[in-house]
Amino acid sequence: MFSKSYSIAKVMGCCSCFGFTRKPKHCRRPTSGYNKNLSQEFLLDEEIEDDDGSYNGEITNTNSGGESDVQCCTKQSEEILRLRAQNGICRQFPVKETQKVVRSEDENGNKMVNEYVHECKIGAGSYGKVVLYRSRLDGKHYAIKAFRKSHLLKLRVAPSETAMTDVFREVLIMKMLDHPNIVNLIEVIDDQESDNFYMVLEYVEGKWACQGSDPPGGLGEETSRKYLRDIVSGLKYLHAHNIVHGDIKPDNLLVTRTGTLKIGDFSVSQVFEDDNDELRRSPGTPVFTAPECCLGLTYHGKAADTWAVGVTLYYMVLGQYPFLGDTLQDTYDKIVNNSLILPDDMNPQLKNLLEGLLCKDPTQRMTLGDVAEHTWLIGDDGPIPHFLCWCKRKSLEKEESDGSNILK
Ligand code: ADP
Ligand code: MG
Repeated sequence: MFSKSYSIAKVMGCCSCFGFTRKPKHCRRPTSGYNKNLSQEFLLDEEIEDDDGSYNGEITNTNSGGESDVQCCTKQSEEILRLRAQNGICRQFPVKETQKVVRSEDENGNKMVNEYVHECKIGAGSYGKVVLYRSRLDGKHYAIKAFRKSHLLKLRVAPSETAMTDVFREVLIMKMLDHPNIVNLIEVIDDQESDNFYMVLEYVEGKWACQGSDPPGGLGEETSRKYLRDIVSGLKYLHAHNIVHGDIKPDNLLVTRTGTLKIGDFSVSQVFEDDNDELRRSPGTPVFTAPECCLGLTYHGKAADTWAVGVTLYYMVLGQYPFLGDTLQDTYDKIVNNSLILPDDMNPQLKNLLEGLLCKDPTQRMTLGDVAEHTWLIGDDGPIPHFLCWCKRKSLEKEESDGSNILK
């Protein structure tokens, strides 16, 4: 998929490590003094639009840590991903890889990229933009994340890494996954002759959380329960494949027209070789950051994802954040020190679930398995249906055929 000049080995560098790759818009752990006057926009990590829809950020190096930090990793991400790409892909149909980009216009003057006709911009991220296209082949809508490789290569995110590393990692992770509650990557378009790089994603029509447009009191228990079930289902699948999302928050949770929630944005996700999901710095969004990450200690990625689920549930139910200060320092202080305050009249089961998820001590925090079995989540719908993923299905089939061979 990757052209030689932008090969993954080249961009990831010898010291690449998932624990240390990140997007520049996100905060770094407070290893040294940091800006105490950041706006709340930053703490909530809202998207900031630019004029022409393309990203125009400065070349940034926001990592205060040196490359020596990176050496704590047991195995380089590059190697883990290569092994996973060979043996660990959990999807029946591989992502389409296209090495030719043809940019043209249709008869109405609309811009086209290969068979996709440009409709409108639907999102702006830290590295690129997300645009709605319609395919001329099947007539369906797709969300295309578009990047400029020259720009990504100039955008330094760590001493030996550029934003290109992050984007390649995002692609490699998404190429492994197939789950009804995870946004599906359909195609990657990467032409060696072109500066453009495209991720063609299934289009998910809506977000449930639009700043300022949510009902003041939150989404209500029924909708929150339904969405939480989808989040837990998708995240359990990720964690079972030793992938930590790293940026669970409303902005990255998209909802289809029929009300199914899908987890998107794997741009700061990390993959682990085994159950050891230890990380040193969280690249996530300030208000969703777990207390153990605020303290700048090593932490476990899965437990930190689970905390972010707790903040998300709180936001869904109450329409506000549990711990938000005026500055980054203030926000971290509240996350670490303030008690969780819940309304007296809250459903006691929901209260119990929020207290379990937003437990400051990660070793005492509820796990996703506990959440899946919690009475509030089960509600009237019953347990979340079991999802048999592709790799599990394959291994069961293999076991069965080996068993029947032995019997023969
Ligand atoms: P970033 O890493 O820059 O935050 P995201 O993947 O979160 O990138 O995309 C930015 C925004 O674009 C999302 O918050 C969402 O509004 C929109 N978006 C991304 N993917 C899709 C999709 N598959 N369908 C619809 N909208 C999307
Ligand atoms: Mg995002």
